[in-house]
Amino acid sequence: MQKTRAYSAASPTSALVAAMIERREPTDQDVQIEILYCGVCHSDLHQARNQWSDFMPTHYPCVPGHEIVGRVTRVGSAVTKFKPGDLAAAGCMVDSCGVCAACKASDEVYCAKDATFTYNSPDRHTGGHTLGGYSESVIVDERFVLKVPTNLDLAAVAPLLCAGITTYSPLRHWKAGAGKKVGVVGLGGLGHMAVKLAKAFGSEVVLFTTSANKIEDGVRLGASQVVVSKDSSQMAAHTESFDFILDTVSADHDVNAYINLLKRDSTLCLVGVPEKPLAVSSVGLIFGRKQLSGSIIGGIAETQEMLDFCGKNGIAADIELIAIQQVNEAYDRLLKSNVKYRFVIDMASIKR
Ligand code: NAP
Ligand code: ZN
Repeated sequence: MQKTRAYSAASPTSALVAAMIERREPTDQDVQIEILYCGVCHSDLHQARNQWSDFMPTHYPCVPGHEIVGRVTRVGSAVTKFKPGDLAAAGCMVDSCGVCAACKASDEVYCAKDATFTYNSPDRHTGGHTLGGYSESVIVDERFVLKVPTNLDLAAVAPLLCAGITTYSPLRHWKAGAGKKVGVVGLGGLGHMAVKLAKAFGSEVVLFTTSANKIEDGVRLGASQVVVSKDSSQMAAHTESFDFILDTVSADHDVNAYINLLKRDSTLCLVGVPEKPLAVSSVGLIFGRKQLSGSIIGGIAETQEMLDFCGKNGIAADIELIAIQQVNEAYDRLLKSNVKYRFVIDMASIKR
């Protein structure tokens, strides 16, 4: 075992503080990555504070972090795709059964025996629970390690590993592209990536925000219109006009208002995971045979495809770079929808 510096929460109400954790010695299939940057996802906050206790209770100590970019320091003897010194990335999962139909289709996140998430999951190696990227290094099976585009700012690449793939996958699945009118609800980490990606795919993008001070940024990021969702007349102007809407909101809100904006046979996809279930009226769905769906991150092959796409198209996150010592303050700002548009931790700060 290797002693490793990390930041962890001891309980739902305690702040994240410096701690030492243990990482396994790399197996033949493993890649050890020195973490340079780690993004701060709202899922980190939900889980550090056990807000998903109804369906995914948090094991403590909890070390969040699943938007990991770094440099390879060691590889096992069977590793072929990486060598020490390479840049590499890891996202929301680090393992899966590898043999079920979903894994065979590189839809590992839908593994029949459950994907191993990067933190707060039963660890297939150690028997404990996984510990995430708010730490100086991580050890990941080669199958779950990704190649990083070299032409982008490395810190701004980190959020692609969750916010990027979580929006890329449903936008591709529901065929966002030229001739499609696509709505994005919420301009946070996921939402700002959704706007950039939907625009890059050629869609007409409309952003819905509760924050009037984000209108200019919404347009700069690629929206042709920005609707302040609290204004019912602005909402009504878009009734039954969308081919697809992606909802990234992290808290309770009225999804029926967005179902009303879908065309016949069109889909509202939820990627946000509020603490409590949302209220859905069947009336909005049945008139117009509309679909309400969900999507979770994306498979490994698709994550690599997304990273390559972002490299080719010069797409990365808009970030606020912070030191690990500022992470609790960053969580407070996330709760106020006050981030432009992803916090990324400069992991060198953990050695201070
Ligand atoms: P974030 O950066 O905090 O963004 C969430 C945005 O939602 C806010 O910026 C805000 O946008 C809007 N919002 C917040 N509270 C709201 C409210 N009460 N009513 C309406 N809108 C509100 O969070 P994130 O990191 O993008 O994550 C978003 C959600 O996706 C979280 O629940 C997270 O756990 C989940 N998630 C899911 C997956 C998946 O695989 N499905 C992956 C990653 C994250 P405006 O200011 O523009 O209104
Ligand atoms: Zn995430």
